[in-house]
Amino acid sequence: MTDPHRDGSEADEAVVLGGGIAGLTTVLALRTAGIPAKAYERAPALRTAASGNGLVIWHNAVLALRAAGLEKHLEGVGTELLHYRFRSRRSGALADWSIADGARRHNAPAYTVSRPALHRMLSELVGDDLRLGARCTDFTESADGVRVRFEDGREVRTPLLIGADGLRSTVRRQLMPYEPPPRYAGMTACQGVVELPPQRVPPGVFVNTFGEGTWFVHYRVDDTCVYWDAVLSDRVAHRIGLGASALGLGVREALLREFGDWPDPVPALIEATPEDVVQPVDIFDRDPVPRWSTERVTLVGDAAQPVTFNLGQGANQAIEGAVVLAQSLASAAPAGHAALADPAAALASYERVRIARTRRIARRSRANAILSRWQNPTVCLLRDAFMRLAFDRPVYRATYRLTMDTDLIPEDARP
Ligand SMILES: Cc1cc2nc3c(=O)[nH]c(=O)nc-3n(C[C@H](O)[C@H](O)[C@H](O)COP(=O)(O)OP(=O)(O)OC[C@H]3O[C@@H](n4cnc5c(N)ncnc54)[C@H](O)[C@@H]3O)c2cc1C
Repeated sequence: MTDPHRDGSEADEAVVLGGGIAGLTTVLALRTAGIPAKAYERAPALRTAASGNGLVIWHNAVLALRAAGLEKHLEGVGTELLHYRFRSRRSGALADWSIADGARRHNAPAYTVSRPALHRMLSELVGDDLRLGARCTDFTESADGVRVRFEDGREVRTPLLIGADGLRSTVRRQLMPYEPPPRYAGMTACQGVVELPPQRVPPGVFVNTFGEGTWFVHYRVDDTCVYWDAVLSDRVAHRIGLGASALGLGVREALLREFGDWPDPVPALIEATPEDVVQPVDIFDRDPVPRWSTERVTLVGDAAQPVTFNLGQGANQAIEGAVVLAQSLASAAPAGHAALADPAAALASYERVRIARTRRIARRSRANAILSRWQNPTVCLLRDAFMRLAFDRPVYRATYRLTMDTDLIPEDARP
């Protein structure tokens, strides 16, 4: 008789913990590489598994999805991004990056997407290889496999455990028990999504507006909806009493006190968004680490290296990491199950390239976060002058090089 608490049939598949962007992309990239895997997500339903509202899938992640045979699916949910604009709340236009030029240089477009639409697309492709309502509690690793335990008493044996379980990863906590908790980056982001006609916010344009200790992002995610994100330094959030019942204000009202006189369409976007849609989220990252794998356990996405959102790369790195992991496993042993028999060398190779890359992204993201937290009006005027001078040329080139050069294994180097 089968033990009801054992998913015994899955003993020769990789177990991916987490049904976020990293986990689902990992299952799909492994499938493309001929390596069987299942994702286990703690949320009982997909609606609660997806959070947030908008994302840019940059050239690097599009190249990764292309390598995993998934680009055509992204085209179905994305709107091509053509311009990335910077402006100052006080000093007007600062810089305008042509993303169409970037697309030509990197041989891949960039897309704005609704996060729930992307998540739905990935989960539909994963299909039966996603188990919901499965919260992992811990695991035990031995020379020939990993025993993964779940809150409901279920137990799964696997040759390879991949922690794609986000910022506060259970797998990471067990791998690095003495690591401090994630670092609060001194910023709170209030996200909203609202229906607005294309005449007000045209498709294909991402607008960043900088204030003093404040930053506002908006762009169209599809034909009907605009995503926005009001970012406040901790001091500004405290000053306006964000969400503080002491002031008797809702989040939207508190935001209007700060952003109500900003350039169009900032106040209109906040005003048009229902209160219950606005979601404040504190931003965290972690210091880079020198290792995140053992012989049979590794991490991907935010579980491996969470970054602040200042380069817009968290989910993009999750996608890139998932594909590089699958490619590393397939390169070490191209034949499906064989890749899982002894994954240690592949994990070491994956870890080596990904730790170097995500460390650079995490550090640059942190540096940009400092720039967006400045509050002194004179310093902000100097920042605006610097952005107007440097953002179209040196910064543009440096940022593009940093973020878009991927570690994907080129097609002609794959087995
Ligand atoms: C306000 C904000 C704006 C952002 N903007 C951008 C952007 O523009 N561009 C960008 O690229 N990135 C952005 N990011 C970052 C991006 O959201 C993350 O990097 C990305 O979602 C990470 O995906 P993930 O799958 O690794 O983690 P998550 O999305 O956190 O998914 C982890 C999953 O694991 C599940 N899980 C956790 N623990 C367990 C367990 N014990 N057992 C089973 N399942 C478990 C969770 O329920 C969750 O579904 C932003 C983040 C924030 C907060």
